[in-house]
Amino acid sequence: MKEQPLTKGLYLNGEFVQLDDNFAVQNPATFETVGYVPNGTAKEAKLAVDAAHEAFKTWSKTTAYERAELLEKWYKLINDRLEVLASTMTIEQGKPLAEAKGEIQYANSFVKWFAEEAKRIYGETIPASVHSKRIIVQKQPVGVVAAITPWNFPAAMITRKVAPALAAGCTVVIKPAEQTPLTALLLAECAHEAGFPAGVINVITTEKPAEVVDVWMEDSRVKKVTFTGSTPVGKLLMRKAADTVKKVSLELGGLAPFIITEDANIQEAVKGVVQSKFRNAGQTCVCANRIYVHESIKEPFLKAFHEAVLTLQVGNGLDEKVDIGPLIDENAVKKVQHQLEDAVEKGAKLHEGPSVNMDKGYFMKPVVISDVTDDMLCMQEETFGPLAPVSTYSDDEEVIQRANGTPFGLAAYVYTQSLKKAVWFSENLEYGIVGINDGLPSVAQAPFGGMKESGLGREGSHYGLDEFLEIKFVSLQLI
Ligand code: NAD
Repeated sequence: MKEQPLTKGLYLNGEFVQLDDNFAVQNPATFETVGYVPNGTAKEAKLAVDAAHEAFKTWSKTTAYERAELLEKWYKLINDRLEVLASTMTIEQGKPLAEAKGEIQYANSFVKWFAEEAKRIYGETIPASVHSKRIIVQKQPVGVVAAITPWNFPAAMITRKVAPALAAGCTVVIKPAEQTPLTALLLAECAHEAGFPAGVINVITTEKPAEVVDVWMEDSRVKKVTFTGSTPVGKLLMRKAADTVKKVSLELGGLAPFIITEDANIQEAVKGVVQSKFRNAGQTCVCANRIYVHESIKEPFLKAFHEAVLTLQVGNGLDEKVDIGPLIDENAVKKVQHQLEDAVEKGAKLHEGPSVNMDKGYFMKPVVISDVTDDMLCMQEETFGPLAPVSTYSDDEEVIQRANGTPFGLAAYVYTQSLKKAVWFSENLEYGIVGINDGLPSVAQAPFGGMKESGLGREGSHYGLDEFLEIKFVSLQLI
């Protein structure tokens, strides 16, 4: 496609580069084209590694204070451009403007936190077994990092990887999702103005993800791949990483159980489940996918939940009144519809949401279904849309088995007023993140990540920084 790009270009070795070939970015709320961005190829992918490899030689030798200072500048520029970043995100991804602003602030909280944490990359000395030796443990940046990110959080998934990588002294090559490259390029503009040296950050936009990412997977100069996206692509990258034995971090899909016990505060549980289920139109990896409510409170919970869902406004995210924007594309809509039809066919009861105009834009009504059983698709596959399946349970052992009985283990939620149950569930759920009476647990200083097929490694917190550091043992003999 030859259309004029509406961006400064992809970001390579400290410069914004235009290409002849560009691809269109579509607004999922209107089907309009909102921008054209360069369609990077294997050539730009390789040039990005060349640049990052060269830049690593000096960037890895900077002091933590120098790196922190640049991260702080990046933070400030992102903050100054909050409005434009958020509106760009809304028009390319669809989420309501208030949510988009929230995401930019959340994304930026990682930049701030890792700017500070850069100064706390401590080594260790370990008591030796003989007088003449000293055991020293040093931490060093792993090298060039490849970061591959999804469309559902176009800013946060980038900063959650890039901020700790830069803080550690690594350089990065980034491939944002093809649906949301504009936010990524705006973040690169902020980084450019902050003054990061050429090659430290590179952003390759492309419509051909495998072509670009394969170059990085095959290049032995890339020491680490950090990926957020679907479980099948994560597994593929893990296999490809084996040939050059790269370090791998994976943030993959979820199928979060949301358990509401018999003693839960129903109003608080409804608030939590609405927040968890319908944020980003249900397109979050940690969003409530399976709602398990104790059978003794089924009716009052369903009544309150359905009433809350009826108040949600669906529409273009630029409209201030809107709570739920469009889904990302037609396939996303089809997937949710298919799960809904499957559930209703197998006996689920439908509680319709507010009326929605679905002619223009990938809009979907939020829907609650009850009498749901575990053989329905919506209880087995990530939904990634505004469908809320409610099932009942009778005892804690039964529900924990059902909650744990999938290959996924990212986030789980429990609403209870019993301290004993809170502790018991948190200890027995096989999940990387457990929200107790909290539908929105993620913050920069806490470890985010999944167990089982939901991923490997953690992002955020000092654990997230460790993912970008090598540990070196120096044995010093005093001869
Ligand atoms: P996706 O796997 O299709 O795409 C993610 C990224 O991988 C994109 O940049 C895409 O271009 C790239 N990609 C796709 N195919 C590739 C290939 N063959 N080789 C190399 N790269 C390739 O996922 P998606 O649909 O964009 O994102 C939704 C998924 O992401 C959901 O499953 C969701 O749960 C998951 N997710 C997880 C987290 C988490 O932290 N665990 C956070 C957000 C999203």
